[in-house]
Amino acid sequence: MKTRNKPTRNGAPVKVQVIPVAEGVWCFRRPSYVACSYVVSTAAGVVAVDVGMDSSADDFAEGLRQIAIAPDRVKAVLLTHWHNDHSAGAAHLKRNFDVRVYYHAGDQPSFTRKTASQGIRSWLGKHVPEEGVLVLLRGLLEEASPEAVDADHLVADGEIIEREFRVLVTPGHTPGHVAYIHEPTRTLFCGDALAVVADQLRLMARPVALDLPAARASALRCLREQSQFICPGHRGPLTNNVARERRRLLDYLEAGGRWPLLG
Ligand SMILES: [Zn+2]
Repeated sequence: MKTRNKPTRNGAPVKVQVIPVAEGVWCFRRPSYVACSYVVSTAAGVVAVDVGMDSSADDFAEGLRQIAIAPDRVKAVLLTHWHNDHSAGAAHLKRNFDVRVYYHAGDQPSFTRKTASQGIRSWLGKHVPEEGVLVLLRGLLEEASPEAVDADHLVADGEIIEREFRVLVTPGHTPGHVAYIHEPTRTLFCGDALAVVADQLRLMARPVALDLPAARASALRCLREQSQFICPGHRGPLTNNVARERRRLLDYLEAGGRWPLLG
């Protein structure tokens, strides 16, 4: 897997690695939690899929710098679900660059902080640093995104948004989880509906598949798409042997294969 990152001037650990996926499609991976955002250059402007993990969007901005895209060229942010490692930078980008934000109504209470916890949980959540796996813990303690972010549009299944992306409603990991297909490159952005480990398609660990029957149906749905590239929320994209990997996991699930504990 080819990655591109410039060494930092002060010798600090690299915050973001850039992995090219397809023509005009890049993955930004944070080594601290292998959480991935994606950037797609379209005829109508630059579109991001997921913008964790910093609520300042510093990590996302660093990825953009590495591929020489100015932040004001980003026109839209497509969010797969509310977890902080996927969405923390959205409020900042909307406020500063007027990006259009898309997500599903099922996760709206968390995105808008209607579900935000109170008292000690909230206090603890706010004091958890935005580093590594702690980012997810922070969100789960607060039960909400770090800053409320409104959608410019609530997505529906099958809808085409930003001209080139089709919405797949894929609940299970969260109630409003969605995936997006970039039709021109046949790239599937599946968030946490599927995982990729060592160039193999996998399921997410069972404890994070909150609604297991829904997660199973969503994984099947993603696998049945004739995608050329699969871009999950963690570790990195699957760009080789995609059809074979899709078939393998599809056969397993269709034969009634059990959902493994560790995915
Ligand atoms: Zn998640």
